[in-house]
Amino acid sequence: MEKKRIYLSSPTMHVWEQKYVQEAFDTNWVAPIGPHVNALEKEMADYTGAGYAAALSAGTAAIHLAVKLLGIGEGDIVLCSDLTFSASCNPICYEKATPVFVDSEPGTWNMSPDALRRALKKYPDAKAVICVHLYGTPAKLDEIMEICREANVPVIEDAAESLSSTYKGRQTGTFGRFGIYSFNGNKIITTSGGGMLVSEDKDAIDHARFLSTQARDPARHYQHSHVGYNYRMSNVVAAIGRGQLKSLDLHKQLKQEIRHTYEKAFADLEEICLNPLNPDGDANCWLTCMTLSPDCPVTPDQIMDALEEENIESRPIWKPMHLQPVFADCDFFPHSESGSVGEDIFARGLCLPSDIKNTKEDMDQIIAIVRGVLGK
Ligand SMILES: *Cc1c(COP(=O)(O)O)cnc(C)c1O
Repeated sequence: MEKKRIYLSSPTMHVWEQKYVQEAFDTNWVAPIGPHVNALEKEMADYTGAGYAAALSAGTAAIHLAVKLLGIGEGDIVLCSDLTFSASCNPICYEKATPVFVDSEPGTWNMSPDALRRALKKYPDAKAVICVHLYGTPAKLDEIMEICREANVPVIEDAAESLSSTYKGRQTGTFGRFGIYSFNGNKIITTSGGGMLVSEDKDAIDHARFLSTQARDPARHYQHSHVGYNYRMSNVVAAIGRGQLKSLDLHKQLKQEIRHTYEKAFADLEEICLNPLNPDGDANCWLTCMTLSPDCPVTPDQIMDALEEENIESRPIWKPMHLQPVFADCDFFPHSESGSVGEDIFARGLCLPSDIKNTKEDMDQIIAIVRGVLGK
């Protein structure tokens, strides 16, 4: 018999999701408009304290609209976290602007304030900074927001992985001019696919909704003064999202428990460090990651292979953007003269299975395999 698959992070549904979807069907709101879409926007704005929210088809669409709303276009420079998923920076290219990548610092694995300062010195006219909260750990937001305030550059917070994480008590995604969240299949809550753009700026969010529904001017005949997009969230998808939102705090608690289990299990091993948490924050621990010490003869690939052999899913650290063939010509600012922090994390790290449905036995098995590869 096939061994049960243990996942990195798979969807976890409860009872409200299907109830709300049933309601969408019963009322025939099966369209990218409807009461669940409006309600999810309100509930997300309330949960995060963001002010206003626009429900969209993906987190990537939310980043794209944030870039559009900031008026970014051809030839503009946008600074972006280097150690991230490519969706953070692809929308810069949709608008023919130029991404410049900013390294991580070792304390949170997020954007290095030192590298950001140097990047803004070289590119004082940068049009925006896209700051990612990787794996759910909040970035050093005080420093980053202060640097950007001084340079008068707006911040887009890519909180796709960090929904429910807080920094000094405030939700990630609510510090910048815009914040974005993702409801993709493996995020802390999911709608199968979807995203949310949030801001304090009501007019901007209203305009995002307008652009996301093909930018129809208020006229009966089909008239357009802007290029529009088909980026609106479906009412069926929003129904799932409303159900999931009820369990967001539970998911966060379970993710944090996974982290604690790994912490305890590897506490005696000098070879293993877990991804750092920001002491000024409360991370959602979306994925627990580990790095092997520089002198450890074992490689991340060996651990991932050993897990895969038992049908257990793990994943490399995101490959830094400045190492991607598609961004090979882009400028990059390392954290310090001693080299790229992101490259080092990528070379020595991996993401451990962090599925909240994992049983104690699953966790014991994962831990035994990792320790076994190390000969411990
Ligand atoms: C998932 C993710 C996105 C993209 O969100 P989608 O909803 O999949 O479009 C953007 N940035 C980061 C860091 C992500 O992990």
